[in-house]
Amino acid sequence: MSTASQDVPAAAGRDSTLHHWIGGRVVEDRGGRRGPLYNPATGEQSGEVALADPTQVRDAIDVASEAQAAWAATPPLRRARVMFRFKELIERDHERLARAITREHGKTFSDAKGEVTRGLEVVEFACGIPHLLKGEHSIDVGSDVDSWSQQQPVGVCAGITPFNFPAMVPMWMFPVAIACGNSFILKPSEKDPSTPLLLAELLTEAGLPDGVFNVVNGDKAAVDTLLEDPRVGAISFVGSTPIAEYIYAHGAAHGKRVQALGGAKNHMVVMPDADLDGAVDALMGAAYGSAGERCMAISVAVPVGEKTADALVERLAERVRGLRIGDGLAEPEPEMGPLVTREHLEKVRGYLDIGVAEGAELVVDGREVRGDGPQSGFFIGGSLFDRVRPGMRVHSEEIFGPVLSVVRAKDFDEAVDIVNGHEYGNGTAIFTRDGDAARTYTQRIQVGMVGINVPIPVPMAFHSFGGWKRSRFGVLHAHGPEAVRFYTQMKTVTQRWPKGVRGEENHFVMPTMK
Ligand code: NAD
Repeated sequence: MSTASQDVPAAAGRDSTLHHWIGGRVVEDRGGRRGPLYNPATGEQSGEVALADPTQVRDAIDVASEAQAAWAATPPLRRARVMFRFKELIERDHERLARAITREHGKTFSDAKGEVTRGLEVVEFACGIPHLLKGEHSIDVGSDVDSWSQQQPVGVCAGITPFNFPAMVPMWMFPVAIACGNSFILKPSEKDPSTPLLLAELLTEAGLPDGVFNVVNGDKAAVDTLLEDPRVGAISFVGSTPIAEYIYAHGAAHGKRVQALGGAKNHMVVMPDADLDGAVDALMGAAYGSAGERCMAISVAVPVGEKTADALVERLAERVRGLRIGDGLAEPEPEMGPLVTREHLEKVRGYLDIGVAEGAELVVDGREVRGDGPQSGFFIGGSLFDRVRPGMRVHSEEIFGPVLSVVRAKDFDEAVDIVNGHEYGNGTAIFTRDGDAARTYTQRIQVGMVGINVPIPVPMAFHSFGGWKRSRFGVLHAHGPEAVRFYTQMKTVTQRWPKGVRGEENHFVMPTMK
């Protein structure tokens, strides 16, 4: 049986403070600012995290810049071998990583294990980097003239990540960035930095040269330094929309390529012909799993027709009232853990008041559900709103908690308009038995990831992940083939060799001339 101490990263100092990982080793903070860390299931403070000042971030950029050239010159096959070893180490430590996630984030242990698996899949994708970096080649673009494109690393890349997937979202970024020959500085969420630090240790154990991957803990001050330093070439961000927009604008103003994935409000349309039990099952997982703290959570159900809506709400209400809530590491495992912080809990509770004041019908009030779990953690039960209308704040704003809103639509066209009228466009789903409805929905909907009878259509690692509209700023999506393009810059070479030892006459002919 493992103990909590085995799950603590080496970067934890003697004072229960998590420091930084720079140049392949723990680097302690310089006595600057610190932020609190909590176990959300008990509500107790578990330690502190160092918040780097700009000079410490610049030290990490020095180290990453220095390491990058030699790493870029390492053949892709050898870079891939480091990824293969990293993959084995993640498999070895799968449960340890998942426990660290549950202790700081609060999600259930099986959910945390699932998160590690989804990150691992990106590492598996990155193992194929020699194949992925093969460019295009044309022979004889003119007489005896050849041309090819090749993809070279950007240099130093940085990732800024949210609290809700402390392992998976960083792993959307750094395995591909590193495999492409870049060095990487990760600035993880200051709410749950343990797992990224554990991953950094595993990369070093896998044989990654020191300085190629670094973790700098911090907040806005650290982020701004990464955005402004000219040596950082690319910024990947995942988090809320206001910050994503800021990162995009500020990063671009400092000459960087930026991909910034933002918030979401994902709708699931339930057609009258849908398998209703299947739809209810899907909604329970998609709306309440991970306490709704997922950017791909379904937070709005759109039943089509009053009959569908009445039946859906009735079945959902019963299931939501019965949700088992508790410490994510308890046995038997609960269905839902706590929210990440007390502040976030208060925010979610506040939205229940807002919805009622706006005239929505609060069918299940999660504030009344305590479950069997500990009473002191950041717990709230599942909530269900009916008769929510577009324009209400509980529909227009991202709550990021276990609150499902039902917006009733009279027909298919109105359902499409409700979804398309929203400012976010991350994910959506339609539940139906009708191929024509599903196909038309897929084509007309202004959303980046669409599920047909699949509630959370997260693309696999070998495809790319990204929303539309205000759910993403920048052009390229995360992981998969788009990530290889993001973390490399294309160079196109045109080549002609004068006749050498063969001694034939030399004619230079431009491709446009002959
Ligand atoms: P957040 O925007 O508060 O924080 C994300 C990161 O930005 C953190 O590392 C944080 O330290 C940093 N940050 C916060 N404020 C900053 C500021 N003013 N200047 C510079 N940096 C700042 O997001 P969060 O609460 O950690 O995560 C939840 C949000 O992330 C939700 O909106 C969710 O939808 C979104 N999310 C989106 C996706 C996606 O793929 N689109 C995936 C996961 C989470």
